[in-house]
Amino acid sequence: MAEEKYRAELTFDAADEYRPEPTPAPEIPAWKDGNIRIGIHTSIAGEITSALDIAAGLGANALQIFSSSPRMWDRGSVRIADVDAQRFRARRKELALGPLVIHCNYLINLASPNPVLRARSVQAFHQEIVRAMALGADYLVLHPGSSVGSDTHSAISAIAQGLKQAARGLKLGELRILLENTAGQGSSVGSRFEELKAILSACPELPLGVCVDTAHTFAAGWDIRTPEGLGRALGDIDRIIGIDRVAVVHVNDSKTPLGSRVDRHEHIGKGKIGLGAFRRILNHPLLSSCAFILETPIDKPGDDKRNVAALWRLTGRVVRATGEGMKPRPKKRMLSARKAGARRRQRSRGK
Ligand SMILES: [Zn+2]
Ligand SMILES: [Zn+2]
Repeated sequence: MAEEKYRAELTFDAADEYRPEPTPAPEIPAWKDGNIRIGIHTSIAGEITSALDIAAGLGANALQIFSSSPRMWDRGSVRIADVDAQRFRARRKELALGPLVIHCNYLINLASPNPVLRARSVQAFHQEIVRAMALGADYLVLHPGSSVGSDTHSAISAIAQGLKQAARGLKLGELRILLENTAGQGSSVGSRFEELKAILSACPELPLGVCVDTAHTFAAGWDIRTPEGLGRALGDIDRIIGIDRVAVVHVNDSKTPLGSRVDRHEHIGKGKIGLGAFRRILNHPLLSSCAFILETPIDKPGDDKRNVAALWRLTGRVVRATGEGMKPRPKKRMLSARKAGARRRQRSRGK
């Protein structure tokens, strides 16, 4: 009897069968809706989450930020607190902003021949990756570096090694590191697409891509003002690097002329590149999967709104800003050496 009961309890019931949960398909972020993405570099002054509201208020649907002070070496802890990172991610989801691009600190030079500066650069870039992952960034943009006296070949291998050292032990997940092309100022690496390609090829294990800056491309000698010139530049990028590795275009007009190798950004349509060229860039089929991010100056209040609106207009859309926008950076008062000397003398007399 007891034995029968025991057997009955063991009867197989299909409902009890263990079925492993199907692995959920990775969630597609709200911003990957196939629409053109227009963003602007937005200030994180105050509270980092406010950058998201500023960008959305300007009519942008993507943004770029720094994740710490861009012209200072980090002091002490530079991690983003979990609660801040969570708030940032949640707000970004609400606003459906993306991609989120983080631009690295300008002091990082993975090619520095000075061992102290190079070690500091590797450490700082490591921290950039950690912060980018905490914030859930899609892309981390880095200037490749400057050879400062060493040859380009050694600089390229130092950069590749530096990228690997900085990323060691980190699981980058969806984050991609983008190397930005440069104007070729001084000894900077990356004004030739072959140099960027050499770095990419030396790091097959890293998720690397490219960010193309229009002002840098123009200053480095590609005449992107004409349809033919733009076609040649994009053709070179595609042949040398592969256009599918370009994820972000920095959309900046240029204060400096073609081939000047000097990097000075200007408002869209107000510089040497001109509005017609930007219309072709924004609507170019080879760039249709790129995000377009402005890094234009803010000389007067409203310049940020005007530049975002200008890009939308060039794509044939009207997007109105609803927010305040960013404040112009206080202008450094430029005094001639003679006047400054006179002031100093005046002040010391007054003491
Ligand atoms: Zn840059
Ligand atoms: Zn740029």
